[in-house]
Amino acid sequence: MKKHNFSAGPCILPQSVLKKASEAVVNFDGLDLSLIEISHRSKQFVAVMERAQELALAHLGLQNKGYKALFLQGGASMEFLMVAYNLLEQKAGYLDTGTWSNKAIKEAKLFGDIDVVASSKEHNYNQIPKGYKVPSGLDYFHLTSNNTIFGTQMNEFPEVDCPLVCDMSSDIFSRVLDFSKFDLIYAGAQKNMGPAGTTLVVVKEDILGKVSRVIPSMLDYKVHISKDSMFNTPAVFPVYVSMLTLEWLKDQGGVAAIEKVNKEKAALLYNEIDRNPLFKGFVANKEDRSMMNATFTLENESLKETFDAMCTAAGINGLNGHRSVGGYRASMYNALPLESVQVLVDAMQALEKKA
Ligand SMILES: *Cc1c(COP(=O)(O)O)cnc(C)c1O
Repeated sequence: MKKHNFSAGPCILPQSVLKKASEAVVNFDGLDLSLIEISHRSKQFVAVMERAQELALAHLGLQNKGYKALFLQGGASMEFLMVAYNLLEQKAGYLDTGTWSNKAIKEAKLFGDIDVVASSKEHNYNQIPKGYKVPSGLDYFHLTSNNTIFGTQMNEFPEVDCPLVCDMSSDIFSRVLDFSKFDLIYAGAQKNMGPAGTTLVVVKEDILGKVSRVIPSMLDYKVHISKDSMFNTPAVFPVYVSMLTLEWLKDQGGVAAIEKVNKEKAALLYNEIDRNPLFKGFVANKEDRSMMNATFTLENESLKETFDAMCTAAGINGLNGHRSVGGYRASMYNALPLESVQVLVDAMQALEKKA
């Protein structure tokens, strides 16, 4: 039965990518060898790494602008501390927009003073803080562009006089932004790019090398840059699948084309959440709603069993909200087709007829 996969992460990848990836596990590039049993220094794998880096920069419009793309390990969670290790000398600023921001703040506090410039914690993170001013003279300012758990997303970015760092784990490659505003972008692969196991870091080289502490090699961005992401054995399979997904994105017309589809998907679902009297959205302001993760609940919890059964019958997977929010969360990453959102909307309308 066809499944409609709304999982928040790891999450849906294009079928064509999964098929190519599975073939490469058996016979990569006609070598009669598996992708995962050859050297990462073979010319075939080096070409994969180079292509993945090139595509990542191209999709963000950051080629030839002083940026390097790295594929590292340890997840986005490792970047919470690597960012601070590499950039924090005295004081950094953070915008607190949810669970992931909080985790980033906690790690950074091990390395220096942290100024939480604004927070939406008192609103249970159902909105993006506004009207704050970022003080000058910080070592960097850190944002989370899309809050995967609460379903909020930033659409405006503050003016700062320091490097701007952004965790884009759950919305990278989903919309067009002026990415050159950011000096360091990181994203765990498993939300919009590939399997868990690798993290994309795009960093402007000239912000590095400015802290006085000694940085262990594996945590030093400069070391990874000097070795082209091959300082140690990279996660060959996740990098390969990420490369395939980035090629797929190119075939779809790139980030601008996928953004159009993402907007359509989000509009379809949010219109139904607003129209259908049985449901309500979690996010307070429409302008803060995430295009990637839509959070909503039933007005009447007693319908939960019925709705869940209808979803299962329709082949809908991964709709449960995060335990800290409850209700439902429909994650609509790049690879999710509009048709799957229609199936969900149909189920919501069928519930209304039944109730
Ligand atoms: C999932 C997620 C993370 C954590 O990623 P890991 O790769 O599991 O460490 C961090 N930030 C955001 C915004 C996320 O969605």
